[in-house]
Amino acid sequence: MYCVPQTYVFTLLALKMNKKQRMKQQEAEAKHQRRILAGYIQDRFPKVKAIKIKKTFFNSDTDRQLETDFPEWNIPLTWYAVFEVECPMHECVAGGFDLIDTIREMVAKKLTHGNGTMICSGWQDQERVGKYRCLTKFSYEVNIEYL
Ligand SMILES: [Zn+2]
Repeated sequence: MYCVPQTYVFTLLALKMNKKQRMKQQEAEAKHQRRILAGYIQDRFPKVKAIKIKKTFFNSDTDRQLETDFPEWNIPLTWYAVFEVECPMHECVAGGFDLIDTIREMVAKKLTHGNGTMICSGWQDQERVGKYRCLTKFSYEVNIEYL
């Protein structure tokens, strides 16, 4: 069993925030809830010894590779079993990439190597919500070691 961290308590201050801040806050809260529900990697995938994710992003228009701060993600097993990769486009709304299905399937089949591509389904920016998708391309490589 693992300890469930205390959930954040919202204060009335939240009411004073502007829409964008509120959206960010709601996103953060939803993310926190997903982490609690997911539990920790070591509990959910007890046979896993190490998980590494290599990330590469490409601009949707030019197909040029985008800079990223941490192209290699060596995930600690004490981390939450949430494998959400943020979209590198800072203005992107409701975007990002979720690798949970890939990892769940790999662990179920005891696969050590997996790779693929995803397209960001977020919106280009606040003004383009509902009109223009972000479409940033994400290429991943997942390596899993087992006990
Ligand atoms: Zn995006």
